[in-house]
Amino acid sequence: MFCPRCGALQRPKDGRLCCTRCGCESEIGKQDKKTVTTRATRKEVVVLDGDVNVLPTTRECECPKCQNREAYWIIRQTRAADEPETRIYECTKCHTRWREY
Ligand SMILES: [Zn+2]
Ligand SMILES: [Zn+2]
Repeated sequence: MFCPRCGALQRPKDGRLCCTRCGCESEIGKQDKKTVTTRATRKEVVVLDGDVNVLPTTRECECPKCQNREAYWIIRQTRAADEPETRIYECTKCHTRWREY
């Protein structure tokens, strides 16, 4: 590490870097510290079009269109706490979407 002011070598001292020439101090690893970003917990599951491959499937349902018994499902929670969550199904065959309350 080199002093940002005079360019001389810095030595660690009391948890800080101290310049051997001009004596200025700077914090160790100030630039190396990773910025920790805390993400807010997302309660709402967003249904994305074209992203159905990662969704879980269930056989406890029946497609209203083609009677296929396998469907992707996702729970969409509304922001209001008193509203019930909605379960959305998507048929793995014909991609019909329907919802169940
Ligand atoms: Zn210096
Ligand atoms: Zn279907």
